Amino acid sequence: MKVVIASSNKGKIREFEELLADLPWTVVPQTELNVSDIDETGLTFVENAILKARHACEVTGLPAIADDSGLCVAALGGAPGLYSARYAGTHGDAKANMAKLQGELLKLGDVPRDAFFISVIAFLQSADDPAPIVVEGRWHGRVIDEQRGDGGFGYDPMFLDPNFNLTAAEIDPDVKNAISHRGRAMRLLREHLSPSPRLA
Ligand code: IMP
Repeated sequence: MKVVIASSNKGKIREFEELLADLPWTVVPQTELNVSDIDETGLTFVENAILKARHACEVTGLPAIADDSGLCVAALGGAPGLYSARYAGTHGDAKANMAKLQGELLKLGDVPRDAFFISVIAFLQSADDPAPIVVEGRWHGRVIDEQRGDGGFGYDPMFLDPNFNLTAAEIDPDVKNAISHRGRAMRLLREHLSPSPRLA
């Protein structure tokens, strides 16, 4: 089965490819099928994940998977949250987004920096699929004031896993996939898919 990954984010696409590697699917990023990014107009991660997957289905006629994800910092009222990709204004500018987050953390002073990453994944068979599979994963940790590590993408250098005492950018990619929000959501998706003929 051919499935479109409804994202143009290289970091996300790489993780999806790793997480789906052992399935009998041919996974194609939407960028290879001339699917452009759509405006993420939803007010929740769930709405945006469905919007993105439906758009990719519409354009390609193929089943699609989309993830809408973000970083939620408790002391910032859940920000950057739904707007994680465009926190500093320009969509996908990770450097600017982290600089903005550092500025906001500085203003907070000495308060707890509990945070979590969230990933909501939607799988649609077709654009008019009335019963999409929707799953969610969270990764709890803390944000730190500096940036550490060269791996990963997005806010990874500022997100510390308390068990490893390493940032998501310092953790081995396989370990990140095992414990991350996206890895957790993807395992749930696979559980939902496995008893169904969709995988055949
Ligand atoms: P969107 O799902 O395309 O709206 O973008 C999600 C944004 O959340 C990304 O652009 C990153 O800034 C952030 N994000 C989501 N998942 C991760 C992750 O695993 N590591 C670091 N940043 C992430």
